[in-house]
Amino acid sequence: MRETHLDHANPLLQEWAAPYALPPFAALRPEHFAPALKQAMQQHRGELDTIAQQTEGPSFDNTLARFDASGRLLARLEGVFHNLCSSETSPALQQVQREMAEPIAAHSSAVYMHAGLFARIDALHAQRAQLALTPEQQRMLEQTHLDFVRAGARLAPAAQARYAVLMGRLATLTTQFGQNVLADESAYRLTLASKADLAGLPEFVRAAAQQAAADRGLPGHVITLSRSLLVPFLTFSERRDLREQAWRAWTGRGEHAGTSDNRAIVREILLLRAEQATLHGYTSYADYALANTMAREGSAVQGLLDNVWQRAVPALERERAQLQALMDEAGTTHAIEAWDWRFWAEKVRQRTYALDDAEIKPYFALERMVAAAFDCAERLFGVRFAERTDLPVYHPDVKAYEMRGSDGRVAGIFLHDNFARPSKRSGAWMSSFRQQTKNGGEVIPVIVNNNNFAKAAGGEPTLLSFDDVRTLFHEFGHGLHGLLSNVGYERLSGTNVLRDFVELPSQLFEHWMSEAAVLRRHARHVVTGEPIPDALIQRLAAARRFGQGFESVRYTASALTDLAVHSLPRAEVPDDVVAFEAEVLRRRSLPPGVGINHRFTHFQHLFAGSGYAAGYYVYMWAEVLDADAYDAFVEAGDPFDAAVAARLKQHVYAAGDSVEPGSTYVAFRGRTAQVEPMLKKRGLLEPA
Ligand SMILES: [Zn+2]
Repeated sequence: MRETHLDHANPLLQEWAAPYALPPFAALRPEHFAPALKQAMQQHRGELDTIAQQTEGPSFDNTLARFDASGRLLARLEGVFHNLCSSETSPALQQVQREMAEPIAAHSSAVYMHAGLFARIDALHAQRAQLALTPEQQRMLEQTHLDFVRAGARLAPAAQARYAVLMGRLATLTTQFGQNVLADESAYRLTLASKADLAGLPEFVRAAAQQAAADRGLPGHVITLSRSLLVPFLTFSERRDLREQAWRAWTGRGEHAGTSDNRAIVREILLLRAEQATLHGYTSYADYALANTMAREGSAVQGLLDNVWQRAVPALERERAQLQALMDEAGTTHAIEAWDWRFWAEKVRQRTYALDDAEIKPYFALERMVAAAFDCAERLFGVRFAERTDLPVYHPDVKAYEMRGSDGRVAGIFLHDNFARPSKRSGAWMSSFRQQTKNGGEVIPVIVNNNNFAKAAGGEPTLLSFDDVRTLFHEFGHGLHGLLSNVGYERLSGTNVLRDFVELPSQLFEHWMSEAAVLRRHARHVVTGEPIPDALIQRLAAARRFGQGFESVRYTASALTDLAVHSLPRAEVPDDVVAFEAEVLRRRSLPPGVGINHRFTHFQHLFAGSGYAAGYYVYMWAEVLDADAYDAFVEAGDPFDAAVAARLKQHVYAAGDSVEPGSTYVAFRGRTAQVEPMLKKRGLLEPA
């Protein structure tokens, strides 16, 4: 290919000379992305044409395997682009993101509607029983064929054209949605101007609020909408008026008239998704989305959510009675509101379980908890992590690690990006720069974990809450799913599994962080180095179920609104999505003073992309699996039982989507999952 002047100037299109072909982060500028992505898309289409135009008839190797190995340049560029847009964005990069959303979606449509390519894959699929494929190749053929069908490959030409328009518009809208949420989060700050404004805040919250102010070039203390700052503020602040202000800002994201208003965007996304479903012959988007999940249909999801809801509401009311008793004792006369719940729950927790976040946090320094996560992975799966300070990263806070397998070879690269900053979106997530594959040569994965912990001021160690530690382990569980992947094809690699299976490796990994043996070994006091006292471990365990009613109600309510709104046929999509949401919650009799996890106008799972649309339930679905799965270790009598861990690695963490998830679970556990361990873990089995 003739090289243009631009190619020489564009580091994205040069050979990436860093170790492990890591991206040349330091040289990247926002203006490099659009031309590089366009060139990579063109190159990818050329590769697909070559596959389609072969005179030789289709075979697994000359069609499926080559398709899987095509578009590698594009995948790498998209990896860099999407990760930077999420973790280290800027107005210039956001502009590129808006410009490129539609071309990238159009490219994806062009790939999956490539008639010549699909004809070959369709022919192979029709003969699949006669091809003498390995089980993994069989799965690969079925999943790839399904990807094409679900992306519109079988539609008539006019429908395909319309479908591509829908996909392009959806990409633009979901991009805008996410940017609007970030805009509302970045714009907000609650300034704590006086000593009275700091009332009730423990030292760690004051320090984080001071750091948040310093990050923004301000003196004093500010509360931002970063969850790791906002939730502690709601938990500890004695200032009910300020709690209410912060809570209203948090729950009002995306719902303010002006440039960041997400209400009309949500409605248009819903209309487009309903039309997308109709083109496939489904009544609603939920029907379309759920067809490719373990649940298969809405009734299975509804059944699980109803079961949990029925038990969660009485559990919540039991908690409310405890809160109310304390409020009465304190002479409080107002009704409990959503901005009060965490505050009074913390008081109950302190009194009943003698637990106090300010007492707990010194045992959970970030660095020690990272070491704990690595240590658990080593004891379970025989992998070792070692920091490499010389590898290129995209922000000074990011740490890079090599992961070596038990044979001593480097089997993956792990980037850990732990702190909140204005250029990063909220939440916590795992993503990849490169996925594991053996197709066309061995490629080791490059995986990233993002968290949004409030960084301690002045170079002090960052202290985590127990909840933060859970998030750290959760994302690291996803990270291991990417890092331990050991499959032949990229399509089946790592986290490319059905979406109600994808939270199993992450939620399962959370179990180890509350094991007493792990806590004794790693939870050491930040000043004295003393291990966490056994009495405190026992109190943590006793308190674990308190608050599960609150968490279960808030989560399930959000899952119910998601399922309800995505189950609407196109004609029934409401004009006012906020009113629809309120109506669903009213019909469900959402208890007062609790709130829900996410409202539509900032529900990024549903509207900043389509991966979790009609899919917020997946955390609960996977929790049925993870609670049941962890019981295998409990039954073996050892949280690091070697035989159970070996089965877990083989059938879950390393298997990707190479085996149908129901069967791979049975291969690990010896039977299908039962729902009771999840209900028991949440304390929802007790009589109402
Ligand atoms: Zn997750």
